[in-house]
Amino acid sequence: MDFHELDSLYREVILDHYKNPRGRKDIADADARAEGQNPLCGDELSLSLKISGGKIADAAVAGRGCSISVASGSMLAELAPGLAPDEALQLADAFKSMMHGGAPPQGVDMGDLDALEGVKKFPVRVKCALLAWETLRNALAAWQRGEASAAPATTEDGR
Ligand code: ZN
Repeated sequence: MDFHELDSLYREVILDHYKNPRGRKDIADADARAEGQNPLCGDELSLSLKISGGKIADAAVAGRGCSISVASGSMLAELAPGLAPDEALQLADAFKSMMHGGAPPQGVDMGDLDALEGVKKFPVRVKCALLAWETLRNALAAWQRGEASAAPATTEDGR
């Protein structure tokens, strides 16, 4: 994908997240963790969540990868805190639907994720954009099963 094919305003938002990723910290007593990989691009990401009072209290994202995957993880770190797990999953669903060409979701605050919509024109890079959110899905699924960490997942298995 060529960055120049994205709208310049969106490009700036993405680059800001890429250069100054949010959520780069340790959560020592995380309640949910998951690792994600996108082998097609070499993106790697690990996510830790603090969940208390029925809400995601804090989110830490670490990893390395392309600008799209890092920016999407940074946006997740910004958007997830304050959401109930179900709300975070709704946001993940809304984002996935948008990246697969669906209509922009009604009533869901997508925050800076809107800036990634242009990436849907580049199917290979859609997996980069979705990596953090699929990792979130795995972390929350493990948490709902009462486990602290999920088995590693990749965005290659049919998603
Ligand atoms: Zn990537």
